[in-house]
Amino acid sequence: MGSDFIDKYGRKVKSLRISLTNRCNLNCIYCHGEGDTNHTNTNIKDEITPETIRVLTDVAVKHGVDKVKFSGGEPLLRRDLPEILTELPPLKDVSLTTNGTLLATLADNLADSGLDRVNISLDTLHPLIYDQITQTTGYHNKVLNGIHAAVCAGLTPIKINMVLLSGINDNEIAEMIAFVKCYSGCVILQLIELMDFQNTSSYKVNIDRIQRELERQASHTKVRIMHRRKKYYINGAEVELVRPVDNTEFCQNCNRLRVTPESKLKTCLLRDDDLVDITNKTPLEVEQLMIQTIQKREPYCKRSC
Ligand code: SAM
Repeated sequence: MGSDFIDKYGRKVKSLRISLTNRCNLNCIYCHGEGDTNHTNTNIKDEITPETIRVLTDVAVKHGVDKVKFSGGEPLLRRDLPEILTELPPLKDVSLTTNGTLLATLADNLADSGLDRVNISLDTLHPLIYDQITQTTGYHNKVLNGIHAAVCAGLTPIKINMVLLSGINDNEIAEMIAFVKCYSGCVILQLIELMDFQNTSSYKVNIDRIQRELERQASHTKVRIMHRRKKYYINGAEVELVRPVDNTEFCQNCNRLRVTPESKLKTCLLRDDDLVDITNKTPLEVEQLMIQTIQKREPYCKRSC
């Protein structure tokens, strides 16, 4: 039983990343939609149910999974999110990644329902640039209010997810570090290398240069187990660098299984040719399908990357 969730590359699955919907109120120019390359709009009635999530997480916990992250689309568009959270079995870490636009009114309820912490996407501190990136208007201030509400609700540590975009926000890293520092350790900055899902190669930054600069400024560094992500401590702020592109180490240390809004198991962000449907399955069938799917996991980037 203990080894059932270990794939043939020796990677033990410890976390689930469940995409609750592919609906979103923003339209970010670079969005990977959690690997839903077609950006399909699943009918609300076909979105993964609280019952399926309960079965899935019960099985996962039985096999040693201790973390669940919800994503989307925008997960806060799910009206039944509090119900989903209250139904979960005991876990070490329940988090979600959100654009934060709806968080100001929902943060307290989500914390009361069992959410431990949030990642909030905020690529810029400038409203007009935010509008340009998200292809919307008027949401920037709502995100700032959402961050404040999340801090007050104790959904910490909060990670601010900033996707680095050359010529758009790559000159804002120092400003962002100063911004998170104001929250005295409750907020961490997570700098994310752009993955090219939407013909965005012109926005790619030189990530080696960014890494060298963080190393130069950091008083000390740490390495996380998950994806071997590096953390830098700069002027009292914590900054994490996520380098998913062509990164063998990242893939070798990936411990997550993904689930799509249509209740399909997904082995990797970058693969959608091996989806496994778990709709209307018994707990025993879900368990068998999860074990079989985990056996099919492959690091996307192997030695040759
Ligand atoms: N709507 C939620 C949000 O904004 O966090 C959840 C969905 S979003 C797809 C999840 C995370 O993926 C966000 O932090 C976003 O910045 C990141 N992301 C989206 N597209 C990306 C890309 N092309 N490269 C790197 N990160 C990306």
